[in-house]
Amino acid sequence: MMNFDLEERLEQRSEQRLFRQRVILDSPQKPEAMVDGRPCLMFCSNDYLGLANHPEIRSAFQQAANVYGIGSGASALINGHSRPHRQLEEELAEFTGRARVLLFSTGYMANLGVISALLSPGDALFQDRLNHASLLDAGRLSGARFQRYLHLDMGNLERRLKKSKARRKLIATDGVFSMDGDRTPLAELVKLSRQYQAGLMVDDAHAFGCIGKGGRGSLKEGGFTTDDVPVMMATLGKAFGTAGAFVAGSETLIENLIQFARSYIYTTAMPPAIAEASRASLKVVERDEWRRQQLTSNVIYFRRSCESLGIPLMASDSAIQPIQVGSVEESLRVSEQLLDLGVLVTPIRPPTVPAGSSRLRVTLSAIHTREHIDRLVEALQSIVWHKPGQAA
Ligand code: PMP
Repeated sequence: MMNFDLEERLEQRSEQRLFRQRVILDSPQKPEAMVDGRPCLMFCSNDYLGLANHPEIRSAFQQAANVYGIGSGASALINGHSRPHRQLEEELAEFTGRARVLLFSTGYMANLGVISALLSPGDALFQDRLNHASLLDAGRLSGARFQRYLHLDMGNLERRLKKSKARRKLIATDGVFSMDGDRTPLAELVKLSRQYQAGLMVDDAHAFGCIGKGGRGSLKEGGFTTDDVPVMMATLGKAFGTAGAFVAGSETLIENLIQFARSYIYTTAMPPAIAEASRASLKVVERDEWRRQQLTSNVIYFRRSCESLGIPLMASDSAIQPIQVGSVEESLRVSEQLLDLGVLVTPIRPPTVPAGSSRLRVTLSAIHTREHIDRLVEALQSIVWHKPGQAA
């Protein structure tokens, strides 16, 4: 057997305090969850609207399983594309106001699929430095010349666009950044993409369902059309509470993805019952305006409570409200102490975030109550920890 340094790599991971351990959830996603067999208040799920265990959506899933069975049986281009997939694609196209939509089994695969289908070696890809790993990996896979501009820094992006001699250029960005919760400057990106004849792709995983009219996301909120942002991607496993993802755009973009996106072609289609559950979820997302209002009011309440106690939050108005901690050790320690107090907030460490910026990624949901948030804030207050900038 070849030597892959497996033991050494694990030892190094532990020594650097970067070893990951999975907690075991013994309940559905909900604020008062069971974690490793004991009750725990959960503040790290992406179930932003509280739909992952919604009765209407669960029942749509169950009924569809009775009709269509469990597995999709094959990839979409063989025979895995069923009626519920087609209906969901059409409904999402209508909802996003785009000509056509293509479903992917996961968001990771959607990003790999689009970028590697659009770009080839010799093309240029410009990505915000803090884009999600799936966009960064997609860039590598495409073989395009791939540059990361400074986070939200349009001057830095413009300098790079100006220098590029590539015939085809694509700018790709998260709409709401997954580990920071802040937002990309869409209007400026649209302007730059026009000026430098670059394509523009927005991954709206953390905004879809949460913001914009009826939960249509950042593009709708800012009034951006397919002409402004030709490639929209969003996921269904977060605010929608189901699983999978989609890309929305022009007829020709989507047909190109069907023909050329390898992560669409060479994988088993999402289970049809997931597509049916997502159709039910779409109805709830659009109808339940109160969920978005409650989420916003929870965000404001949490921020006010933390600010009055000097708990250092990052600049974010989204459901993602990370607490700056800094060192890996401190993020682990605070998270372990929170768990001892019955509160689950997983620490986020490198390489997920840049070195020195470890954090507790608190996420809020429409179904957290004031009492839940008070319990989190009290727990945070009771922990003695060194805030960034303070001597340890
Ligand atoms: N894009 C972003 C911005 C994400 O945060 C995530 C998931 N964390 C993905 C894509 C991948 O989506 P999925 O989990 O469906 O693979």
